[in-house]
Amino acid sequence: MKPKAESLRALRIVTRIRLNLVAKYARIQKIIEMKNDTVQKQRGNMIRTDVAVIGGGAAGLMAAITAARQGAKTAVIEHMDRVGKKLLATGNGKCNYTNAKQGVSYYRGEDPAFVLPVFRRFGLAETLRFFEEIGVYPKCRNGYYYPASEQAASVLDVLRMEADACGVHIFTAQETRVVAKQKNGFYLETAQERFFARSLVMAPGLFASPKTGSDGSMMPYIEALGHSVIDIVPALVQLQGKQSFFKAVAGIRAEIVVSLYVDGRLTAADQGELQLTDYGISGIPVFQISRFATKALKRGQKVHALLHFLPQIETAEEMEALLTQRFLDGAAKGRKKDAEQAMTGLLPKKLIGVLLREAGISLHAGAGEVTRRQLRQLAAEVCGLRVDIVGSKGFDAAQVCAGGVSTAEIDANSLESKIVPGLYFAGEVVDIDGCCGGYNLQWAWSSGYVAGLHAAQSDKCKNRMREGARIKQVHVPENSKGVSLKSSE
Ligand SMILES: Cc1cc2nc3c(=O)[nH]c(=O)nc-3n(C[C@H](O)[C@H](O)[C@H](O)COP(=O)(O)OP(=O)(O)OC[C@H]3O[C@@H](n4cnc5c(N)ncnc54)[C@H](O)[C@@H]3O)c2cc1C
Repeated sequence: MKPKAESLRALRIVTRIRLNLVAKYARIQKIIEMKNDTVQKQRGNMIRTDVAVIGGGAAGLMAAITAARQGAKTAVIEHMDRVGKKLLATGNGKCNYTNAKQGVSYYRGEDPAFVLPVFRRFGLAETLRFFEEIGVYPKCRNGYYYPASEQAASVLDVLRMEADACGVHIFTAQETRVVAKQKNGFYLETAQERFFARSLVMAPGLFASPKTGSDGSMMPYIEALGHSVIDIVPALVQLQGKQSFFKAVAGIRAEIVVSLYVDGRLTAADQGELQLTDYGISGIPVFQISRFATKALKRGQKVHALLHFLPQIETAEEMEALLTQRFLDGAAKGRKKDAEQAMTGLLPKKLIGVLLREAGISLHAGAGEVTRRQLRQLAAEVCGLRVDIVGSKGFDAAQVCAGGVSTAEIDANSLESKIVPGLYFAGEVVDIDGCCGGYNLQWAWSSGYVAGLHAAQSDKCKNRMREGARIKQVHVPENSKGVSLKSSE
């Protein structure tokens, strides 16, 4: 072999060896990088935060914004694919977010006065100011407040914008599977992430309208933390009646007074527009009394309602006098009306048939032939048609729930648990339910504010916030489903 060819061959061999070495080094380098990355991810996967809020509904968003405004690193853990789904449905899509009339009488629970310190800290005025500041211009109709846009979506939008501006991290589609109290805070685990939070705000709602996310899935965890739960029942909900006449009167709307009796005792009453349906009774006055009915049914008590169809005529005696005039005086004057005709103009036609039947009067009986006894019975039916309540349309149809975490175990000034320090409650999950008319959202805003404020100001959070520069950023791994508000939708 010639010397030139030999040196060329040697050069090729050296080059191949070098290339192999470079490739090998690159592979080794890649493996080292991958290992580092895995270690990084394993370390980074524990998301450290000052305040974690479980539930991104009205109360949870308010709590998170409030905590973040205090300078607390705040994370919201929401199991739906987006936050605030229920808000979009409120007020028939217009969001009746509060009411000009406030007071303890609009709230229910084992201890309705529990709301007072919360509202003193953040009540109607603060709510209106908060929403104006973040962009909601109010529109007030008969004391009911709506956004001027008349779009519930705009209320959710401004809340999301504000949470984003405050640096709240929102983790959606995260089903919590571990909630554990630790020495200095809480360890939380979802299918995707692990969290450590100094304080924890529970705002998962209860069971009302589960398709919007409030499915009660947090209740076992809350009970496991040591809290007792007052019986949870649907409220602000339609009631089912036993009587067979409902199919005949379905669709009727009438201004009525409804009185609710539990085991024969008058328990609640309300006035407003009733809707008769093929299963029972609906409408705002029915919603207002419904929580008393569902609670009593849960206890196995007998429940019935009396419907007064002409509330402007107060007593059965006055009604009897009116009916006597229409039936007997008219007939006496020689007008040959039947019973149905004698009632025409007084009540809706479909209802007349039912009331006459309940009073034992044939529709086509001559008005003049109806006895005084029958007229007395008819007067009683008009002033109090009896509906035996056998159930409600349930959690799916309910706007809220009555019952929830016992207020006896929560400090009313801070909404901190008396059992688990550092744990706070906000919104419907607490045993407080409001009347229809913006009161439930008012409770969500007020309790969210107070819980968020105190969660951020708890000793552990304050100590950590004082550490200033040494605070680590809340870490959101790149592969996380958790995203900031801006990029979430
Ligand atoms: C159709 C309808 C109309 C209404 N209209 C009005 C109205 O006009 N005015 C008014 O004042 N009130 C109204 N309400 C009632 C009001 O919406 C509620 O009282 C209020 O939204 C309660 O707020 P919350 O944050 O406590 O609970 P929710 O709004 O129920 O929010 C709870 C959040 O927690 C999440 N969550 C639940 N479990 C978990 C879990 N395990 N892990 C993570 N996240 C979880 C849910 O997905 C949800 O996003 C209405 C309700 C309905 C259903």
